[in-house]
Amino acid sequence: MNHPRPYRFRFVIVLGMLSAILLGGGCSRQLPSQYFRLLAFGTIMELEVIGVDRQKAQAAYQTLQQDFQFMHKAWHAWDPGPLGRINQAIADGRTIAAPPSVLPLLRISQELARKSDYLFDPGIGRLVELWGFHNSDLEPHAPPRDEDIEALVARHPSIRDMKLEGFHLSCDNPAGKLDFGAVGKGYGIDRAIERLREMGITDAIVNAGGDLRAIGSRAGNPWRIAIRDPDGGSIFALLSVSGDEAVFTSGNYERNFTWKGKFYHHIIDPRTGRPAVGTASVTVLHPDATTADAAATALFIAGPDDWYRVARQMGIKYVLLIDTEGMVYMNPAMQKRIELQKPVQDIHISEPL
Ligand code: AMP
Ligand code: MG
Repeated sequence: MNHPRPYRFRFVIVLGMLSAILLGGGCSRQLPSQYFRLLAFGTIMELEVIGVDRQKAQAAYQTLQQDFQFMHKAWHAWDPGPLGRINQAIADGRTIAAPPSVLPLLRISQELARKSDYLFDPGIGRLVELWGFHNSDLEPHAPPRDEDIEALVARHPSIRDMKLEGFHLSCDNPAGKLDFGAVGKGYGIDRAIERLREMGITDAIVNAGGDLRAIGSRAGNPWRIAIRDPDGGSIFALLSVSGDEAVFTSGNYERNFTWKGKFYHHIIDPRTGRPAVGTASVTVLHPDATTADAAATALFIAGPDDWYRVARQMGIKYVLLIDTEGMVYMNPAMQKRIELQKPVQDIHISEPL
């Protein structure tokens, strides 16, 4: 699914490691902060838990590691597995009993896609594939031919053609192919937070390279989150999160290649079949990570002119959008929370969301 984003939130990692180092030995004492690294969705995730004993923290880490491995297998669009079987059935025009491991994610994705006017559309897996963004080792390559893009767009691949009756899935458009790359990580992080709560953990952060959800506090202090400057590895802004909130960013710097001097990134506008134009990054804050993840992708595609409308439709209350010219767009509530770390020439503040 998604791939490592090595630069973001390094300071969170450093903080985490520092606290882990400072803690030293101790066995069943309640420790202020414990930090773990997990492998999930082809990226390194960080789990930090506060105020629990070492045994409980270790159990949480192991549970999450297992859960994420399971989710990664279940939702991989191009490896054999439950989603692979669904995609094969769609291609063959067969109805299939959707596996329980995929069904809830499919249902919620249908709803989020509808609310985004299908700008976020996990049914466009074939377009992602045509551009080569499904490859785990993405090398520079020639973009697809215009006629191939146009032919596929003319077949309107979309999750809207995928009909669920109970748990039976049918799709009368064989051009559709599910790829949960834009929402799976968010959904997975929500499930991880649920698990932590079941285990009695109330203060924790699950962070996948800057896409995260935090609950409670960091020993009485808010969690401090950095937002990357899409122009380089530096920090664009900081913000504080406490209580229960997810922060997700979609950026053109995450997966891309350059061919003959032209830059191509992985967020595809389903209307054109090409990388969305005009946006460099979008950060969304929302109570749940699934919605935040899908919305960050949708608003990236909506771009500077249409993000406000789509955000309202999706029920999003905090947005920061940086366009490809470096102009910054946000709503007033976001402006209140964000601490810019560098001078910005042009800031457009929208009406309240
Ligand atoms: P994100 O980083 O969450 O914005 O997700 C981007 C990933 O989602 C890409 O690498 C593709 O696998 C997939 N994707 C690209 N464009 C779209 C889209 N318009 N709707 C849904 N998924 C998409
Ligand atoms: Mg997303």
